[in-house]
Amino acid sequence: STESKDGQGFKGHDMLAPFTAGWQTTDVHPLVIEKSEGSYVYDTNGKKYLDSLAGLWCTALGGNEPRLVNAAVAQLNSLPFYHSFWNRTTKPSLDLAKELLETFTARKMAKAFFTNSGSEANDTQVKLVWYYNNALGRPEKKKFIARAKSYHGSTLIAASLSGLPALHQKFDLPAPFVLHTDCPHYWRYHLPGETEEEFSTRLANNLENLILKEGPETIAAFIAEPVMGAGGVIPPPATYFDKVQAVVKKYDILFIADEVICAFGRLGTMYGCDKYNIKPDLVSVAKALSSAYMPIGAVMVSPEVSDVIHSQSNKLGSFSHGFTYSGHPVSCAVAIEALKIYKERNIPEQVNRIAPKFQDGLKAFSDSPIIGEIRGTGLILGTEFADNKSPNDPFPPEWGIGAYFGVQCEKRGMLVRVAGDNIMMSPPFIMTPEEIDELIRIYGEALKATEERVKE
Ligand code: PLP
Repeated sequence: STESKDGQGFKGHDMLAPFTAGWQTTDVHPLVIEKSEGSYVYDTNGKKYLDSLAGLWCTALGGNEPRLVNAAVAQLNSLPFYHSFWNRTTKPSLDLAKELLETFTARKMAKAFFTNSGSEANDTQVKLVWYYNNALGRPEKKKFIARAKSYHGSTLIAASLSGLPALHQKFDLPAPFVLHTDCPHYWRYHLPGETEEEFSTRLANNLENLILKEGPETIAAFIAEPVMGAGGVIPPPATYFDKVQAVVKKYDILFIADEVICAFGRLGTMYGCDKYNIKPDLVSVAKALSSAYMPIGAVMVSPEVSDVIHSQSNKLGSFSHGFTYSGHPVSCAVAIEALKIYKERNIPEQVNRIAPKFQDGLKAFSDSPIIGEIRGTGLILGTEFADNKSPNDPFPPEWGIGAYFGVQCEKRGMLVRVAGDNIMMSPPFIMTPEEIDELIRIYGEALKATEERVKE
């Protein structure tokens, strides 16, 4: 049946319309959050929710870390703002660049450029790569390859790079210089009998064929999230990044790692690149860089890219790009403190201590007849509902199964991310074992209620 389960469709707040969230209006009955504390947030009625998504995959240190607040206040009191244009800058901005570059050890990174968000970081990457190829006298090398179901942001270029149809339809996107290759989701896309390694080989071959078809001299860069986030939490299949890196390297194509979700410990390593042995030329970060207490993003570039961009023989002149709030001193002061805390507490190790409880506790529900797949690593996990445990048997969208599950969680005091029949979680790094137990208990109860609903 394609009938709505309750005959009238799901009526909740903005869960079914995530991209309307920016419109500040009360006519869609938003859940209004007014306070946060550790792993919890509170609404205007005082109801408490376990924040299983850490805001939007970002409040890594939870809701009330006093050191971050103090860092912001101290900076506001001494220098609330100065810019970083025309060879002027501020100390927090310089200090953060140094600290940030030291955190990335998968390979050496030479320079950092600050933005206000992940989208701006990825837009900056595109301009950097174009500038780099122009400086090398090869302006035709300007296309980007991203992946289906990726999420790289919402500005025009970041939305173009993203591989989610909702970000393209109605907007005349993607831009013509952006191409998309396969989504590396083994469960959904593998052929009968194909192993993960064989699947990865096939995808790397498809990527190579796309490059050859377009002409390698026209392809500038490949961009990838180490673990895909908003596309449904999709960790890479075995050997995927080894094979893809070999292909892009062969054709002198830059590798951009979009670490906006994965960086600073979420996967149990400082960066996703550490986990999957990725040696990128450019890296984007945001979110946990300041534990989201202040907006800030950054781009890091390798010495090779930096050398071309900053070379004396580069006749292009300065890289004419920057934002009023690039390197905002208050954001930088907070980010410096966040990086200090990650280091002092050895956050990747802390994540590794609690991640097995989180992963194993939730993956134990994989047998549910309404769950197609539960996937994740470290402190990130996605659940995909499907009938017959098959990616080819989605539930009718009008049933709103994912949304129903989300409401069941919310009723019981937990917030999750719902996108169709995908549920996403990325708890704060500070979550305690007891809070993980609570998260698993609420998930289990919400799942049971959702199973009943499907049976009706
Ligand atoms: N890249 C990735 C992987 C993301 O998950 C996001 C946001 O969720 C972005 C980029 C965009 O970041 P922002 O929302 O800060 O612009």
